[in-house]
Amino acid sequence: MQVVAGVDLGGTAINYTLLNQQEEFLIEGLCEHPALAKQGPELCLQQIADGLQIAAEGAGISIADVVAVGLDTPGPASAAGQLSARGSTNFAHPRWAGFDMREGLAHKLGKPVSYLNDANAAALWGHYSIFGSNGRETSISIVIGTGNGGGIILDGNVVKGKNGFGGELGHVLIPYQSIAGTNGIKAECNCGRTGDLESLCSLTGIEKNILPYFLARHPGHELAKMDLHQAAKLVRGLADQGDSLCREVFRVQAHALGLFFDEMVNTFDPDAFIVGGGALETSKEFQDWFMEQIRTAMPIQREEQAAIPIHVMPNGDTAGARGAAIEALKLAKQGGLA
Ligand SMILES: [Zn+2]
Repeated sequence: MQVVAGVDLGGTAINYTLLNQQEEFLIEGLCEHPALAKQGPELCLQQIADGLQIAAEGAGISIADVVAVGLDTPGPASAAGQLSARGSTNFAHPRWAGFDMREGLAHKLGKPVSYLNDANAAALWGHYSIFGSNGRETSISIVIGTGNGGGIILDGNVVKGKNGFGGELGHVLIPYQSIAGTNGIKAECNCGRTGDLESLCSLTGIEKNILPYFLARHPGHELAKMDLHQAAKLVRGLADQGDSLCREVFRVQAHALGLFFDEMVNTFDPDAFIVGGGALETSKEFQDWFMEQIRTAMPIQREEQAAIPIHVMPNGDTAGARGAAIEALKLAKQGGLA
C-alpha cells in the first residue's frame, strides 16, 4: 500500500493527513501534534517525525508505506521552502532564519518532500475538492482569516512565483473607493499599502478599518462600548444573527472581494472562484447571502464570464494538510513512486 502524507506545520501545532493512491484521505478531521517551533528547527523536525509516526499508526499503515511527504508552513519562505533570512512570526527562533524547511524535513524523514506555503496549500485543496487532481483547470482561492491568504491554481498547478510570493492575493490593490456607503473609509494594510484586498477583507481589516468606520457613525451600537480587538471578533456572529451594522461590515468585505474577482476574471478567465476561512464558518443562509453580495459587486460581466461559479471551500481546519498531501501526490507521480 502506497500513501502520501500532508504535514501542515504552524507555529504551535502540526496537523497531519494521509492520502492513498485511490485519492482517499485516511484521516477524517484533525490529527494534531505539538509543533514546538519556538524551540528551533531540530526539535521541531523531530516533532514532525514523531507526529507522523503516530498519525500513520492511527490510520493503520506503516511509516514505510509513506512514499512522499507534502509540507506546508506559513511564510515568508521561498518557493522551494527556505524560510526568510529575516525571520518570520511563526518561526521566531534565530536558528530558523534562512532554514531550508523542505530539505531539512526530507533529510530527517529520508523521504521526498514537497513544499507549499499554507495559503497555497489551502488553495490547492479547494481546487482539488472541485476538480480532482488530474484536471487542467484554473481556480482562484481566497481564505479570509486574521489576514487574507489566497492562491492561484493555473492549469492544475500552484503558481508559486520566482520568490515564493505567487498568489499573495491579499496585497493586490482594488478600487475600494467604489464600494457604496464607505465614503472616506481608511483602508490601510499592515504591508504598507492602502486599499489592497486584505485591508478590508480580513479580521484585521475589520478591526483596523471597517468597524471603526461604521461605529463612528453609529456610536450607540453595542460594539461601540468595547475594545476594538474584542469587538471585531464578535462581528461575524452578530452578522450571522442579522445585526444590520455587522451585516454592513461583511457587505463591504464581499464587495471588496467582488471587485477583486472581477480583476481576476480579466486576468485568468478561471474555471472557478473559491472562498474559505473563518469569515464563512457561519450558517448556510449567511454564506448564501455573502456569495450573492460578491456577485452583486462585480461590474457587469460578459455572458460567458458571468457564469464562472463561486464556491465555498470545504473543511477549513484541514485545508492546509490536505493541500500539502495533494502536492506530495504529484511529486510521487512525477517520481514514479505512486
Ligand atoms: Zn497588504
